[in-house]
This record gives sequence, structure tokens and C-alpha cells, in this order.
Amino acid sequence: MPYAPFVIVTATTEIIRGVSRVRVNEAYTDALSAFGLIPVVLPPVNAVAATAALADVAGLVLTGGEDLDPKFFGEEPHTATGAPHHARDTYELALARRAQELRVPTLAICRGIQVMNVALGGSLIQDLPSQHKSAIDHAPDGKRAERVHDIRLKSSSRLAEIFGSRDVRVNSSHHQAIAHVAPVLAATAFTDDSVIEAVEPRDPAWWMIGVQWHPEELTATPEDWDRRLFHAFADEVRDTSRD
Ligand code: MN
Repeated sequence: MPYAPFVIVTATTEIIRGVSRVRVNEAYTDALSAFGLIPVVLPPVNAVAATAALADVAGLVLTGGEDLDPKFFGEEPHTATGAPHHARDTYELALARRAQELRVPTLAICRGIQVMNVALGGSLIQDLPSQHKSAIDHAPDGKRAERVHDIRLKSSSRLAEIFGSRDVRVNSSHHQAIAHVAPVLAATAFTDDSVIEAVEPRDPAWWMIGVQWHPEELTATPEDWDRRLFHAFADEVRDTSRD
């Protein structure tokens, strides 16, 4: 049955003015709406409900946020690792695994690329500043929507095809990154300091792009790379919703 291009957007919960509330940055839902998709913000529900919801939509966006609990990749927390959000970890890991099983078109952003990688068997560097020292600052203050470092894409990647270029510049707001890449994924973008900035599935039948930067903050820049990314995702979601 045809359905509208609904996309699940994951969210966190946060105590604001004394009350626990569901929260997601409007930049995500604005970007999706701008490209013709209908964002459906899904709060951290249990894994059964989350995966049931995924069967009735045409796309998934795993959003940025808290550090993932390192127990999911078999490590104790580093001193710089933030307190985990158990409900969010549980439902996003379940969504990521089911998205791979059902081949749901997925855009996995910042924390999202990390969740996807861990859900499929990979691991993370818990703190770049102390565990991967380099000249590149991956979390410069107050520059959320500025392109602050270069990345180089693999020529064979879906991302390079979308961008029409192997060399782009992105924003950066992360202190963690992928360590070991999950077996079903391949790293497709790197910085000069060898931090993984994008992954894609080895199976080309599944449209999934994970990015370590925040494309939703870059849709109004002179460079059109991030608009191209949302456009490609929207095309794929619309094709899926018409199947
Ligand atoms: Mn970065």
C-alpha cells in the first residue's frame, strides 16, 4: 500500500524547567521538511514498539546527542565519556539493527553513525582529544554551522557520487569517533588525521549513509554538498514509500 514519505527521527529526553521532555534539534526536522519528507519524531519507546514503527515508515534518521554506553562495545567508560541515556541507547540500537534487516533508507548523523556502527558490531574511540591526539579540533566551540575541517571520500562511495567530489569540508561537533568498523559497513570518508567521517553498507541494496558531521546545520551554505545529501536521501525515501 502506498504511504506518505514518513521518516522516523530519533530524539532524546531532557529535564527542562523541571519537567522531563522529549527533545530533538529543529534543524533535523526543518531539513527533512525542506526536502519534501514528513519527519515523525519518535521518543525513546521500548525496542518492540520502535521496530514495529519502523515497518510503517519509509526512512530513518538517527540523530546526534549523548555518548553511547561503551558497554555495548565491551568497554568500561573513559573518564571523558558522558553519562549514558539507557532508554535512548536501547531503542536506537534496535532501530539501527532492524533498519539493516529491512533495508530501510537511513541517514545516521554524529551519534547516529556511532550507534549504527556499534549496533552492527563495531566499536568507538571514546575520547579523541586524549586517545587520538592530532592537530585537527573535532569539537571547536561555537562553530556548529561552520565548515572547520576537510574530509576525503573514497572514489567508489555513494557519498562521492552524491557530492560529485571527493574533497569536501564539513562542520565538526564530536569527541568520539568510530574505532573498528562493523563488518557489514565500510568507511568511506576520512580526515587527514585518519578519523572516520562517513560509513556506508557493503551491501549496495541498502541505502544507508552515516556521517560524523552535522549536515542538517549546513543546508544554507554556499557549498551545496549537504543539500545534495538530503536530496538524495529524500529521493530514496520517496522511492521506498511508493513501493
Ligand atoms: Mn570531525
